[in-house]
Amino acid sequence: MANSNIQFIDLKAQRERLGQKIDDAIMGAVNSGAFIMGSQVKEFEKKLADFCGAKYGLSCANGTDAIALPLMAWGVAEGDAVFCPSFTFAATAEVVPWTNASPVFVDVLADTFNMNPIRLEQAIEQILIEGKLKPKAVIAVDLFGQPADYPKIRAICDKYGLKLISDSAQGFGCTLNGKHPIEWADCQTASFFPAKPLGCYGDGGAVVTNDPILLEIMDSLRVHGKAVKSDLEGRAFEHDTKYLNVRIGMNSRLDTIQAAILLEKLEIYADEIVKRNKVAARYNEALNGIVKTPVVIENGISNWAQYTIEMPNRDEFAVFAKTKGVPTASYYPIPIHHQAPYKNFPVGGNFLPVSDAAANNVISLPMHPYLEEETQDYIINTVKEFCKG
Ligand SMILES: *Cc1c(COP(=O)(O)O)cnc(C)c1O
Repeated sequence: MANSNIQFIDLKAQRERLGQKIDDAIMGAVNSGAFIMGSQVKEFEKKLADFCGAKYGLSCANGTDAIALPLMAWGVAEGDAVFCPSFTFAATAEVVPWTNASPVFVDVLADTFNMNPIRLEQAIEQILIEGKLKPKAVIAVDLFGQPADYPKIRAICDKYGLKLISDSAQGFGCTLNGKHPIEWADCQTASFFPAKPLGCYGDGGAVVTNDPILLEIMDSLRVHGKAVKSDLEGRAFEHDTKYLNVRIGMNSRLDTIQAAILLEKLEIYADEIVKRNKVAARYNEALNGIVKTPVVIENGISNWAQYTIEMPNRDEFAVFAKTKGVPTASYYPIPIHHQAPYKNFPVGGNFLPVSDAAANNVISLPMHPYLEEETQDYIINTVKEFCKG
């Protein structure tokens, strides 16, 4: 069997499935000339919100800005603490210092790799006792595509009066008890980076929310703090209010071309999640008892942004797999709190043993909706061969 061609994530197979529709969508956007904020942007925002049962959607330039926008909108600032995992992509924590607030790193659960609610509450108590920072918000991550324990995390946020962001850059489309994370979070963010499960052909991101006030302020912030409806109500202006800037914002828009592409991709996304789950189920069945296979939270459905196994000698396996033509990746080898720019921020319980262990043991196998059984079997056999020694 051909083994030189195995893709970690196969974007070409999806492009073939969508075929002419994608090309037409791109050319439609190009020919319209409305490269910024064309009609496809609003249409996509509406459909994205509908997809996850949220009232509103707001697109932006990338999944990082999507987490920054709500923090900025809530006025998170110096002296505030924002709790987040350390075993995640840097962007989750990076946006917090942008606001001059401090991330506080919280350990994850050993089975799901998502934020441990018990450790979260302990970290909040620790920050309150230290008395230097004011707890303000929590960023829960749907790591590798599966939902965090939102019912428990929401209850803690309510107890301490904290806002909750679901960083669903990887997990957008995942559900818990049949509900998307926005059921519990104040807002849920998405990244459309090409390798994410719902990727575009460049950078893109979005926030969905049920809160109309949050939506309006984020809408203002993404275009340089422009005046929005509530800023103008009951006031008279001599000049065009288009250039009235009422807060310090940024430039973070989704391109019309990307929105047009995403409209097509969203059409098949639910089906792709089903296909991803079939691939994951086959991996689980074949690899159970051979390596530590992924555990999904009870009543949760992952979108399998990654299919991540654990093995003590994962670096050796990565080298072995490569010789067999099987690409792998280890996300993330260095937890954020060990990275130089983040070393001085508080760490819940002062160390994160589960995050540290996971960082050393995880390795992800090729995963995408179009992974054929024959190719998957080859990958499975490569794992088995390695484990036999
Ligand atoms: C990819 C990712 C982001 C950032 O998304 P970009 O679109 O690359 O800015 C944020 N959080 C997590 C968990 C991610 O995986």
